[in-house]
Amino acid sequence: MTKRIFRSILGVSLVVLLASLVLIVGVLHGYFQDRVAHELENLTEYIAHGVEETGADYLTEDLPDSYRVTWVDQDGMVLFDSQEDPAELENHADREEIREALTGGSGEAVRYSDTLSQETIYAARRLEDGSVVRVSNSQYSVWMLVLQALQPVALMMVLAFVLAMVLASRVSRQLVEPINAIDLNDGEAAEPYEELAPLFAKLRGQQRQIRRQMLDLKRRQEEFEALMENMSEGFLVIDQETRVLSYNSAVLRLLYAQPPAEEGESVYALNRETGFRRCVEEALSGRRWEQLLEQDDDCRQIIASPVEQDGQVAGAVIVILDVTEKEQRERLRREFTANVSHELKTPLTSILGTAEILRNGLVKPEDIPHFAGNIHRETERLIGLVNDIIKLSRLDEGGGMGQWEPIDLHALAGAVLDQLAPAAQRKQVTTQLRGGTAVIQGVPQIAEEILYNLCDNAIAYNREGGSVTVTVEDLPAGARVTVTDTGIGIPREAQSRVFERFYRVDKSHSSGGTGLGLSIVKHGAAYLGARVELRSEPGHGSTFTLTFPKEGK
Ligand code: ADP
Repeated sequence: MTKRIFRSILGVSLVVLLASLVLIVGVLHGYFQDRVAHELENLTEYIAHGVEETGADYLTEDLPDSYRVTWVDQDGMVLFDSQEDPAELENHADREEIREALTGGSGEAVRYSDTLSQETIYAARRLEDGSVVRVSNSQYSVWMLVLQALQPVALMMVLAFVLAMVLASRVSRQLVEPINAIDLNDGEAAEPYEELAPLFAKLRGQQRQIRRQMLDLKRRQEEFEALMENMSEGFLVIDQETRVLSYNSAVLRLLYAQPPAEEGESVYALNRETGFRRCVEEALSGRRWEQLLEQDDDCRQIIASPVEQDGQVAGAVIVILDVTEKEQRERLRREFTANVSHELKTPLTSILGTAEILRNGLVKPEDIPHFAGNIHRETERLIGLVNDIIKLSRLDEGGGMGQWEPIDLHALAGAVLDQLAPAAQRKQVTTQLRGGTAVIQGVPQIAEEILYNLCDNAIAYNREGGSVTVTVEDLPAGARVTVTDTGIGIPREAQSRVFERFYRVDKSHSSGGTGLGLSIVKHGAAYLGARVELRSEPGHGSTFTLTFPKEGK
């Protein structure tokens, strides 16, 4: 702006300077021309008077050299000329000043020479005899005068130019400085120029609007960052050169990575696995790509999508999901299906085999009850298995096994032990119930199932002459049921697995159970909000503890 003002002032000064120069030269020239014309007129009158008094001889007397004197008769014929031979001069009757003098008594004219370098001023006066005396004087034209005075004029111009420059620079600085010093954030500050007040008011308004928008943007960015940080999914943005532009902390957790050491570091510094690289490469080539990354028991799903700008791939967005649980569930489901098929197939094959032998009449009549017993036992086992699967699937689906109501665990445990008395007797295992009343809120059918399975196992995996003790306590922390046996116990490495579906410690010593009992206990307890704990010493016995929450569900 300073430069522009400087240039404008300088330009205006120069134009004014030149215009003044032209004007002054013109005015002065006009003034001097008038003076010369006036003098010429006087001189003409003086010479005319002389000629009238003394005749033509007067013209041969000493007249000033700088003037040209011409005398023409009333027809315009040159009678005398102080500079040329009159015989060689043409008739002057048509000359403007002569014509005027012949008609009006006096005449004047100014004529420029061809080169324009000179102009001649003429003054003419008619004598009494009708002849005309004309005096002329040549002088330089205005352009010639200017040209002649070029050196001083140029010097003057240079000086004026320098002066204009200095002044223009000062003035422009003085003009701009107060504008630069204005603080737009200070709403109270006075404007340096009244004329600029509307502009500054507008600027201040815009400034306020920008500030508001900035705050809004900042708030939105903070919201976005907070959202990203609270996401359990990893969110990563990279540019075309694989540089990390943005990421949330879930990315580091899911990729087991350290924060990038410096800004703009490659995404490969976070993970170098082939699958991850493939995702990045494919997305940067413009294709969406998904890949599973497995490490130990953890499983991550990487989804990389290209980000396009003006039809070009400008980068990629990578989302990282923890799918460990999903994958585990999927694995368990596959295992469960395989196990169910296997568990169903064994008794069915046995039933089919026995039935075929019977059908072919290969069995002696006295052996038929034995074979029929086999079929009966296997069918019972099959029904037990199917029932257990139904119970488990109901628990998986979230209930469907009855209403919630108060249950007295002590009474329920007594009923279960009564139910199992024949089995205990067969196994020669004594059972006892200890403790007292403890009422919980729950689904009776599920609670009974849990206690039944625990007591059933405690008898089944006991030794001959062993014992099973069920203790029911109403503790401040909640109701607690403990089922303790003096049986074979469970090896340490199997203790965490006995709750899995179809898991049996030793299939050859299995009581003929389905392998689903403890799984039902685990799921049933979870359904009722109870906790199951196992302590076991191989060879000495096991203790299963169920702790119910104080308040029912
Ligand atoms: P099962 O139908 O085989 O009894 P469970 O799920 O009830 O299936 O039990 C899983 C496995 O845990 C059993 O096969 C057995 O090896 C072991 N187990 C369960 N309860 C006891 C216990 N009280 N004492 C020893 N081992 C037990």
